[in-house]
Amino acid sequence: MLSFWEKQSFLNYDYIIIGSGIVGLSCAASIIEKKKKAKVLVLERGLFPTGASTKNAGFACTGSLTEILADLKKMTENQVIGLVSERNNGLQKLRKRLGDKTIDFQPLGGYELISEKEMYALSELEKVNTLLKPLFRREVYQLKNNKIKSFGFDKNLVKALIFNQYEGQIDTGKMMKNLLQYVQERGVTVLNHTEVTAFEEQNDGVKVSVSNQLANENIKFSAQKLIICTNAFTKRFFPELDIVAGRGQVLITEPIKNLKFKGTFHFDEGYYYFRNYENRVIFGGGRNLDFEGEDTSEIANTHLIINTLEAKLANIILPKQKFDIAHTWAGIMAFGADKQPIIQFHSPHILLAVRMGGMGVAIGSQVGEKVSKMILA
Ligand SMILES: Cc1cc2nc3c(=O)[nH]c(=O)nc-3n(C[C@H](O)[C@H](O)[C@H](O)COP(=O)(O)OP(=O)(O)OC[C@H]3O[C@@H](n4cnc5c(N)ncnc54)[C@H](O)[C@@H]3O)c2cc1C
Repeated sequence: MLSFWEKQSFLNYDYIIIGSGIVGLSCAASIIEKKKKAKVLVLERGLFPTGASTKNAGFACTGSLTEILADLKKMTENQVIGLVSERNNGLQKLRKRLGDKTIDFQPLGGYELISEKEMYALSELEKVNTLLKPLFRREVYQLKNNKIKSFGFDKNLVKALIFNQYEGQIDTGKMMKNLLQYVQERGVTVLNHTEVTAFEEQNDGVKVSVSNQLANENIKFSAQKLIICTNAFTKRFFPELDIVAGRGQVLITEPIKNLKFKGTFHFDEGYYYFRNYENRVIFGGGRNLDFEGEDTSEIANTHLIINTLEAKLANIILPKQKFDIAHTWAGIMAFGADKQPIIQFHSPHILLAVRMGGMGVAIGSQVGEKVSKMILA
């Protein structure tokens, strides 16, 4: 049973956000930056954020050449430029908000490993550079084949290496912990272990229900507006939405003596990605090995994917080098028929900001900015 005091001081807010991933916290940050006195509550079902934001590999990427070429087959040039611009602006916003040192941002650049089957992309490199020139002012993609040998990659499998100077890497854990601290220091309330079970639109706002297991009762919070940032877990509330949960599996090695490369790397049309973390390798991907099995919100590893990652690490990335796997994990992303996130009002007091695909680290801060403008308009 709630006390008079709890009812008086704990239940009423201006804005409630469901989900404390990068999108939920960025929405909270953008709102509180614009409206310092706003009463903002973030409700998170996990002890930590438990989806993708604390599980990704810490890539700060704007898109590889083959990814852009694949996008150009499905989207207009303007849409592709728009997407790259959102990623670039989002990363700039994240760095500015928290500071490069805080998130351990390292501007080491990104590379794409080109195998025989992707050699077609080289003839399109200039065309894509011209397309992106208005955004970056300089050439985005450059050939760096001389690095194949110095990085120690298998030259029979890696036929070319494309460099993108605008990419970098962050420490995902530091980024999320500091984003959380950033909003809390500005007066945002974040409640963990608080799963939203239902919400209802009312004439003058919303009521949001959570279960309170200790008291064996449901608690209802009220707010003027509700922002739903539950990404891959949104279908529970909106089964009709085009959202498919997609798992990403990752491993990290023990420290490697004389690791020869630094930076973020992609191959096989972006289905695989690796980077250095200090002198270890973080390596993830392989969803294309089993799309059906990986379209799941179960946070778990599978032998098929982890064994394949280990084999590719041994054959392509660290040939003739000894390594040990220190740890493996998985995170859950949200995909749809197209790459655009869903950012829209569901009803006058409820707004959705979900379906970030594999680019939520890059665009998350921009999404928060957009949402705050829609909510405060
Ligand atoms: C392995 C991997 C690699 C990735 N690589 C990249 C990359 O290179 N570049 C990039 O930009 N992005 C990348 N991403 C994607 C990026 O991490 C996501 O797009 C982004 O983190 C999504 O953020 P979000 O806040 O929308 O969702 P999430 O981080 O999933 O947050 C949603 C939150 O909602 C909470 N929640 C759900 N339901 C409820 C409920 N009923 N009540 C309360 N809380 C609830 C969940 O617990 C969760 O914490 C990668 C992701 C993974 C997993």
